[in-house]
Amino acid sequence: MEKEELRSVLLADPRLCTKCRLCEKLCPTYAIIFDNKGTLVFRTERCIACYGCVVICPKKALSLEVQAPEVDLDKLCQEKSSRSLINFIHRE
Ligand code: SF4
Ligand code: SF4
Repeated sequence: MEKEELRSVLLADPRLCTKCRLCEKLCPTYAIIFDNKGTLVFRTERCIACYGCVVICPKKALSLEVQAPEVDLDKLCQEKSSRSLINFIHRE
C-alpha cells in the first residue's frame, strides 16, 4: 500500500504525559505541536510514521497506529477512549 493511502493516528495517554515536549522537538515533520494551552496537537497529514516520538517518550505515553483511509476514525477514537486513552487528533 502506498504511503499516501495510509494515515497515522497518534494516541497520547494524559495520565502518563508530563508535557516535557520531547516528542515535539524530535518530530522531523512538525506533525506534533503543543498549542498555546499546552495541548498536544497531532497533524496526521504531516506524519511519516517514523515512530520516533513513540520511542523517545520517556513515559511511554504515545502510541501510533497506521490505518487505511476507510477506517472510521471516530469509531476508533471511541474504542480507544473506552480504554481510558484520550485522543488528541487534530484534523485539518
Ligand atoms: S515525550 Fe511523552 S511525556 Fe513528553 S510531551 Fe511527548 S507524550 Fe508527553
Ligand atoms: S511518528 Fe515520526 S513523523 Fe509521526 S508524529 Fe511521531 S515523530 Fe512525527
